[in-house]
Amino acid sequence: MAASLLLPLSAQANDKPFSIAIHGGAGTISKAKLSDEQQQAYRDKLKEAIDAGYKVLNDGGDSVTAVTTAINILEDSPLFNAGKGAVYTFDGGHELDASLMDGNTMNAGAVSGVKHIKNPIDLAKAVMDKSVHVMLSGQGAEEFALNQGFTLVPNQYFDTNARYQQLLDAKAKIYNQQQKGMDYQAAHQQLDDNYKFGTVGAVALDKSGNLAAGTSTGGMTAKRFGRIGDSPVIGAGNYAENGVCAVSATGHGEYFIRYHVAGDICARAKYGQKSLLQAADEVINQRLITAGGTGGVIAIDHLGNIATPFNTGGMYRATRKSGEPAQVMIWRDK
Ligand code: ASP
Repeated sequence: MAASLLLPLSAQANDKPFSIAIHGGAGTISKAKLSDEQQQAYRDKLKEAIDAGYKVLNDGGDSVTAVTTAINILEDSPLFNAGKGAVYTFDGGHELDASLMDGNTMNAGAVSGVKHIKNPIDLAKAVMDKSVHVMLSGQGAEEFALNQGFTLVPNQYFDTNARYQQLLDAKAKIYNQQQKGMDYQAAHQQLDDNYKFGTVGAVALDKSGNLAAGTSTGGMTAKRFGRIGDSPVIGAGNYAENGVCAVSATGHGEYFIRYHVAGDICARAKYGQKSLLQAADEVINQRLITAGGTGGVIAIDHLGNIATPFNTGGMYRATRKSGEPAQVMIWRDK
């Protein structure tokens, strides 16, 4: 009998590497515009979230729980564009998207366009665990939430002054361009990445080798009401498959949907025999750049390797591997 079979399961599991990565959105993130206090606030919240997810894994918890635990902390923080602090639609409301995938079972759950769910990632989990569907949208998703015992919050719960200011600025910029003869689409396209991004996400590998990925967002500032981005679309903004990889994306959702970003990275790793780093880099820094799509991903493979490529100025992110301290980064170098 192989020696490992003589060990209790918990001891076998304890020897296995585990790791977690999170992001709080990609964007231009100008060093000049982010004060030392603001920078520290982002770093502290990212550290809190990665450590909470890490603790779940370290204590023997599963990757799905690690992912939702970390995302809940980011959703509850007004700093990020998910849950409290979500961006505004052009009409001045909030519409949130989220998805969760369990690489062990290949089950997935997603919600789109919800307006009254405090933690959309939790509803995505309920859709995964308690419904026969993968994605529920709008009113149907909220009706399902009520059936599952969720408490709805008023849409104003998501309000923050900073995001409202961002909406006013974005509208003024669009209006100015329109005055110069540019059409609405082109003017919207020209908005700086900081108006668009800020999504949160997490990927994790647990001690049993199970991968999971989750993504939660308010979408893009000044989006049309009813617009759905890549975050709730499995294979675009989120994907997990045991033995291959788990990916959560942030960036210009329309490109991430059309280029099937999260799925493409895992397919390159699986069928192309590429390392995680190479697969993620090819998609973010080659294919997407050629297409004109901006953003980044966090990705983790079945061995616990982590890749965090982005083609914007920065991406709020943190990583932590078993037995190692957390690393929290905003820009390429720190
Ligand atoms: N990907 C998100 C969306 O397009 C935005 C973001 O990542 O911040 O809705």
